[in-house]
Amino acid sequence: MDEERIISPMLENSTEERLEKSLRPKTLDEYIGQDKVKENMKIYIESAKKRKEPLDHCLLYGPPGLGKTTLANIIANEMGSNLKVTSGPAIEKPGDLAALLTNLSEFDVLFIDEIHRLSKSVEEILYPALEDFTLDIVIGKGPSSKSIRLDLPKFTLIGATTKAGSLTTPLRDRFGIIHRLELYSPEDLTTIVKRSSKILNVNIEEEAAQEIARRSRGTPRIANRLLKRVRDYAIVLGDGDINLKITKHALNKLEIDELGLDEIDRKILETMIVQYGGRPVGIEALAATVGEEIDTIEDVYEPYLIQIGFIARTLRGRKVLPPAYKHLGYEIGDVS
Ligand code: ADP
Repeated sequence: MDEERIISPMLENSTEERLEKSLRPKTLDEYIGQDKVKENMKIYIESAKKRKEPLDHCLLYGPPGLGKTTLANIIANEMGSNLKVTSGPAIEKPGDLAALLTNLSEFDVLFIDEIHRLSKSVEEILYPALEDFTLDIVIGKGPSSKSIRLDLPKFTLIGATTKAGSLTTPLRDRFGIIHRLELYSPEDLTTIVKRSSKILNVNIEEEAAQEIARRSRGTPRIANRLLKRVRDYAIVLGDGDINLKITKHALNKLEIDELGLDEIDRKILETMIVQYGGRPVGIEALAATVGEEIDTIEDVYEPYLIQIGFIARTLRGRKVLPPAYKHLGYEIGDVS
């Protein structure tokens, strides 16, 4: 994937990471949208606090940039606990995980991003840790080796993944709370853009916030990034205030169309319409023709294209739908 892709929902660099930290809501009340998840989490957190127990282990899944890390921070904050952050690929060996676990304090929250990427041997260490807060370690090698069991502090694991389907069943079964984060509505994204503008100290017109929201593919990370780029245009071409005209100008310059699609989305749709004549196509064939990774298409592009009704998943593969033809200026039947 293009590193500089403006509507990538992935974190692009450390400057953006710093910006995100400043824009990250700190409490459940500040967390916009995802009402079902929030409502449930509120109850679970309150109950855990009343019982003086750690919160059950939580699994959060959904496309990148929707607020999984943010929610993990909020959960730790609302529980009054410390958060330790790591990721599946960062935990290479069972010993790495053992070190992490033994360094936790009672009620700490451990956040593992991309949890589907844990290796099998690491995962096996995690099972008893999650179930009974114990750690089985083997000391020495060969016949003289022995296994000892250590008690761990009671902690909460929050796992995040873009691919709930890639989690093994034993791991998945050990999460008491499982939530899927949904793409955000334009209304919620408008609220997020306005909130971020306030933090960034920028004046923004309601219509301009709505325009950015509409073109953000249901993703807060993209909304915040577009806001920042539009602000640059407003500073250079105007007096720094963001109005609708400057927003449209900036977003057009960034080649993001009215629905938030960029050239790769268009390439995917066009391939399905022209090359495959609108017939269902397997993800492998599509990825190969477009020249993108299967994972990237599944995690990054497809969720939004499905959400806006441009693509459907069928038993025979992905199928491009009539609104996509219309958006790209094709007549159905034009090209098969
Ligand atoms: P993920 O972990 O799912 O990739 P993040 O939690 O890093 O996503 O969210 C990306 C950014 O989007 C955050 O820095 C935050 O500013 C913003 N964000 C995400 N969810 C919300 C929300 N519900 N309300 C306000 N801002 C949000």
